[in-house]
Amino acid sequence: MDTLGVAFNEPKRSQEKEKKEKEKNGMDEIDGLGQLTDYRRLCSDLTLQTKKEGFFKDYLSAIVEQVSDEEFEGFTKQQTDRDRVVYCWTLPALHKTMKSFQPSYRGKSADESIKRREQGNEAFREKDYRKALYETQDNEGIVLLEGSLLERTTLALALANRSAVLVHLKEFALAIRDIQLSLQSNYPEKQRYKLYDRMGYCHQQLGETAKARLAYTIALDCLEESDLEPAALDNWRQTVEKSRAKLPSNNPSNNSNNNNSNHSTANANTNALPELVSGANSNIPNASKSLAMEVDDNSGRYYVAADDIKPGQTLVCEKPYAACLLPGKFTSHCHHCFVRLIAPLGCLTCRGVFYCSVECRDEAASTYHQYECGIIDYMIASGSSILSWIALRILTKGKMEDFLEAREELEKDGDGGRLLASARNPDSYSGIYHLATLSHLRSDKDFFDRTFMALFLFQCLRASGYLQTRFRYEEDSLNITEDEIYFASLLLRHLQLLQFNAHEIHEFVQLNEKNMRSTKTVYIGVGIYPTVAFFNHSCRPDVARYFLGTTMVITSTRCVKRGQMVAENYGPIFTHKHLTDRQQSLQGRYWFNCQCLACQNDWPIYDGMTDMETILTCCPLCRGTVQSVNDSYARCLKCKKQSLWEAIRRPVEEITTLYQTAMRLMDLGQVDKAIRVLGVYIEMMETLVADVPVRELLLAQEALRLCLGTYGTKYCATTHLTMKAVTNNTRK
Ligand SMILES: [Zn+2]
Ligand SMILES: [Zn+2]
Ligand SMILES: [Zn+2]
Ligand SMILES: [Zn+2]
Repeated sequence: MDTLGVAFNEPKRSQEKEKKEKEKNGMDEIDGLGQLTDYRRLCSDLTLQTKKEGFFKDYLSAIVEQVSDEEFEGFTKQQTDRDRVVYCWTLPALHKTMKSFQPSYRGKSADESIKRREQGNEAFREKDYRKALYETQDNEGIVLLEGSLLERTTLALALANRSAVLVHLKEFALAIRDIQLSLQSNYPEKQRYKLYDRMGYCHQQLGETAKARLAYTIALDCLEESDLEPAALDNWRQTVEKSRAKLPSNNPSNNSNNNNSNHSTANANTNALPELVSGANSNIPNASKSLAMEVDDNSGRYYVAADDIKPGQTLVCEKPYAACLLPGKFTSHCHHCFVRLIAPLGCLTCRGVFYCSVECRDEAASTYHQYECGIIDYMIASGSSILSWIALRILTKGKMEDFLEAREELEKDGDGGRLLASARNPDSYSGIYHLATLSHLRSDKDFFDRTFMALFLFQCLRASGYLQTRFRYEEDSLNITEDEIYFASLLLRHLQLLQFNAHEIHEFVQLNEKNMRSTKTVYIGVGIYPTVAFFNHSCRPDVARYFLGTTMVITSTRCVKRGQMVAENYGPIFTHKHLTDRQQSLQGRYWFNCQCLACQNDWPIYDGMTDMETILTCCPLCRGTVQSVNDSYARCLKCKKQSLWEAIRRPVEEITTLYQTAMRLMDLGQVDKAIRVLGVYIEMMETLVADVPVRELLLAQEALRLCLGTYGTKYCATTHLTMKAVTNNTRK
């Protein structure tokens, strides 16, 4: 199947829901086409709506109730996305229903914020800095209602308070950022000396002598503006002067070393992106030269090894074309780069999203968030799936004019070469547009529901102000322009292709900093990755994924010989799920029959798997089965020669030692070394056992995946500052 490069485990919630529904309908075994269709329907529905409580479900059923059989029959005759959009838009049921649904918005008053700040001050006096951080940080989300001076001052005070907390937590760079923001937000003139003194201290702690000196000097100037009593003023002046005098003499080289340390993205994950093995591929810039793309009628486009691939090599490193954070993570992760928040900066308007830095906030505010800001609460309330969010984001992150300009080119009948465009030029919309939609396999009912979701998203887009006035009819929401129809059709197309081409984004969570094995991957968002989209699926994948923020890194976990297919995994892995379950979930969600080695041979899951000793205990000469002669010797049943038990057992002992070494290195936290040893182990084992599933080998690949995961964005519950804030957070 073309471009079916997807790995998308349904969120746990949905899997459970899926299971419950299955039980209810008695669909544990698929034995009839009807049931399979039902199951496929269920999986497809989940790509539209994930939350039970959202209003979209009611909205859709209200529409469906009013649609007559003839009207639905008419819908099934529509051949293109454009025709479907136009047909559904003209149904009276849509407009009647539209009127009965009103958006709801969360609100937060300035009073609440003042109360929160007072609680923060109290915790601060009691020296509970972590609690204080939590209490103060929520204030940053405050609204600037009509630019009211009182509101701005409240915000400035909240930021100033938080900067004091951050100093105590030794987060100096973040403290400086909060001080700067506070000074920009109408912090009272008479007290500015305090902030500049604090800023001087932070720069001093960061070794930035020149900046510290400047801040102390400004603090002294500001003291002149203060309303302190003469004695207190004198006291302050002496203190600041003393701090300034204590600074080491100016040393420019020393300063330049620390040039970046007060950068306000100090919060962000600073892990560098890994190098691709043997360099970047000139045809596929985000992939390594070790990968090549192949095409055939059965498998569509997929990757093969252009070179022998060894375990632990970086094959792809790719930023998403578009990515959306799960709404449930809005208060714990940066809305833009997905890192955990320490001292979040809220969107000043919607109060619903938070950023790790000024850079992330400005980048989002100047692109997609300027449109999404006003509709975000409505989207959350609708219970739209995360894929619906991305369908919209693909538009809001770009410029409306660019989509209009590209229209003619996009709508030309696609030739095969166009598909390649997405991997060749991962930043181009054309590649996304031409990813597989499988529209020829989609049922009428699926199309029907999807078209209404597209129209719902279109109405959100219209409300967001994304479509400029001359492209829409403001005076009458029933009218729709040709350009608006085009955007609604694009949304419908996105909803189809995202079902097969989106990837989950994970965060690597270590429950205990000392124990590498106490880890799990947590689902935090979804992205679309144009290069990764071309990987085929195997229930025994050759690669693993980890994330640096939203950037996906694909590394090999097996040896792949030159010319062989390199496959990733879309969800079900053979070691954990039986054949029928795997086939069912791949059919349901991705609409194909898996033909991988594990499926063809119905390999057992971990529990029923052969262990290494059984397989490797064989004749050292011909690998035939051996039979014990006595304590020292065994005879080969094939070549009839006798061998020493010692010689027969040696390979098992040697390779077991290697495995134990790798485990010890992992326990010591020596990840790089552990990865190298595991690589050697996997290579040796694969040579010895070939394509037979062996428990120890698969466990080693699992361990390798775990080690590689530590290179990605990590979150350690016992050391992260916001742990308290996250667990205490009662915001909905
Ligand atoms: Zn960020
Ligand atoms: Zn906003
Ligand atoms: Zn399979
Ligand atoms: Zn033999």
